[in-house]
Amino acid sequence: MRLLFEDITRKTQRYFISDTHWFPTDDAGFHLLAATANLSVTRYDHETIVVKGQLAGRRETVCDRCGERVEDELHTEFEYQATIRTEEAQELREIECNDQDAITLYLEEPVIEIDDILREQAYLAVPLRALCREDCKGICAGCGALLNTETCRCSPDTSTSPFAVLRKLGKQ
Ligand SMILES: [Zn+2]
Ligand SMILES: [Zn+2]
Repeated sequence: MRLLFEDITRKTQRYFISDTHWFPTDDAGFHLLAATANLSVTRYDHETIVVKGQLAGRRETVCDRCGERVEDELHTEFEYQATIRTEEAQELREIECNDQDAITLYLEEPVIEIDDILREQAYLAVPLRALCREDCKGICAGCGALLNTETCRCSPDTSTSPFAVLRKLGKQ
């Protein structure tokens, strides 16, 4: 969704987005299964608009340790000041209107791509680590066994193992 500055007034407009068409299907590192975004867009002055919103979603990815499929949630709130003012001019202004958490977007044209904002927020909101479970044991570097469900197949050093003799007896 793209919004033209000229269509945005001081009267806040609200948007609800409930699909994920704005998210890339590949090269993202994860798959966004579902998402909802609530946005409010307001004109600040003749060069600047303010976009506030919330994004919530569910993603599918793989466990950092074992590579098994994982689903987890993302949730974030954000505020952008999108301006066609130059960066130098904006720095002077930020002193007077110090909205600490707002992200400033410097645009070349008075058009804002809402999809870009949602994409950036989705990347910022995902958990740093994806684990299938907190105590995931991962994969054995030696034999590749999935240690949550499989036993390591790396052969123990039989000559020094105190069980080597027992094991030999058991086989006979
Ligand atoms: Zn895992
Ligand atoms: Zn192993």
